[in-house]
Amino acid sequence: MNPIIENLEYIQSLIPDHVTLVAVSKTKPAESILEVYQTGHKIFGENKVQELVDKYAALPKDIEWHLIGHLQSNKVKYIAPFVTLIHAVDSVSLLGEIDKRAKQNNRTIDCLLQLYIAEEESKFGFAEKEIRELTESMVFEEFRNVRIRGMMGMASFTSDQRQVREEFNNLKNCFQRMKPNFDEDFNILSMGMSNDFQVAIECGSNMVRIGSSIFGGR
Ligand SMILES: *Cc1c(COP(=O)(O)O)cnc(C)c1O
Repeated sequence: MNPIIENLEYIQSLIPDHVTLVAVSKTKPAESILEVYQTGHKIFGENKVQELVDKYAALPKDIEWHLIGHLQSNKVKYIAPFVTLIHAVDSVSLLGEIDKRAKQNNRTIDCLLQLYIAEEESKFGFAEKEIRELTESMVFEEFRNVRIRGMMGMASFTSDQRQVREEFNNLKNCFQRMKPNFDEDFNILSMGMSNDFQVAIECGSNMVRIGSSIFGGR
């Protein structure tokens, strides 16, 4: 059997029904994505705009494409016509640009707010305090063509499971505290990757982003 499909089925067997699997296909060829697609799985994640645009063009149009990585404002226009979910919104100006480009395409684009949860300096994202201040200032209401569906975060890259669990719990708690400030469809909590998705699910994740455990190392 094809090892990618074997991996996919194994991962699917570990994920409960209420958790959405985003198959992270970055750096992998379109043929590998097609193999997964042909099993019926249609949700894929990429972290680079150009690669996402190329793969969108090459592959079936009913794929749901998620942009999972850091997004620069000047590149939003390339994905606005088709992207299903933008995971890593980390500034109001980026949200404003997504709104503008969504409007130009007569679309509403679903977004997640990235919360900074890791100890590492390099990770992008909002602090909870910033999100709270933004909801109080009603700035999110101005953006008619974006729908804030929830939050995403990345735990520190560490083998210390206790720390990873604590960071995921922080994100889950922040998500719960922020929920009343948003519409009913604020219901996605995107956390967990190949090495930590089981902990993430235990901590309340309902969307996991898994690459190397399905497609192999990069
Ligand atoms: C690459 C990536 C993933 C998947 O990582 P794996 O360890 O390969 O599962 C998930 N989320 C983001 C934001 C990524 O960039």
